[in-house]
Amino acid sequence: MEMKGFKSFANRTEIVFGEKFNCVLGPNGSGKSNILDALCFVLGKAGAKGLRVEKSSNLIYNGGKTKKPSKEGEVSIWFDNSKKEFDLYPEQEIKLTRIIRSTGQGIYKINDVVKTRTQILDLMSMANIDPDGYNIILQGDIVRLIEMTTNDRRQIVEEIAGINVYEDKKNKALRELERVDTKINEADIILVEREAYLKELKKDRDQALKFKELEERKKRNKKTLLVNNEKIHNTQISAIEEDISKNTYPNFGFNVHGKHRS
Ligand code: ATP
Ligand code: MG
Repeated sequence: MEMKGFKSFANRTEIVFGEKFNCVLGPNGSGKSNILDALCFVLGKAGAKGLRVEKSSNLIYNGGKTKKPSKEGEVSIWFDNSKKEFDLYPEQEIKLTRIIRSTGQGIYKINDVVKTRTQILDLMSMANIDPDGYNIILQGDIVRLIEMTTNDRRQIVEEIAGINVYEDKKNKALRELERVDTKINEADIILVEREAYLKELKKDRDQALKFKELEERKKRNKKTLLVNNEKIHNTQISAIEEDISKNTYPNFGFNVHGKHRS
């Protein structure tokens, strides 16, 4: 783990953890608990109180009495991923970084790429690490565990058993479901409106089609009427012509058209 500008660690300080037990020794007030605070911090522990400060900006190195304070506090931790404990990550090593700015703004990174807090917690849960869980026992925790009520203790047991993670996930999913339901309802209302509009449009369309068809029929009938009229006129003409030819003047040898008769 590496700390820089975090609590009492002004300069880049590296803590190398061995594979089994690790012990941090030092006089009172030398910064032993600050190391554990750094560990909880980088694992995403929420709340300033849990990291033994009033407000999160107090996590940044304050310069003591004589030195310059840091602009930001940063802690990184490297995990060996050769056994694929973080199974979604192909990398051999996972580097986790958390930075706190004096404004209180926090930044999280996985392998130097900025990520959200949720992504960090998801990554941690892959390896069963919970920064607010009880696999980390801080100074005073045991005394508190003994003194608490049975109900509170039961809650802790459930938390250790990992039940509350699923409870949280379930609640989150239920809230999501509610949101989706609302969206479906909204979509249904819009659908009903659109359907009514569609009906109107269909009515208009049917009327237009009917108009077109009638118009065509009208045109056709007009044509038939003209042809029929022509036929009647032709018959009448023929009849008249016949009449005329019957009433010609044989002496002149001409019919009404002035033509020679054969
Ligand atoms: P103990 O043995 O009493 O538990 P410890 O070794 O755990 O002591 P810590 O609590 O880790 O000591 O460190 C306390 C020291 O850290 C104090 O001297 C305090 O001034 C210093 N400290 C805490 N926060 C900051 C900060 N933001 N900037 C600089 N120094 C800080
Ligand atoms: Mg201590």
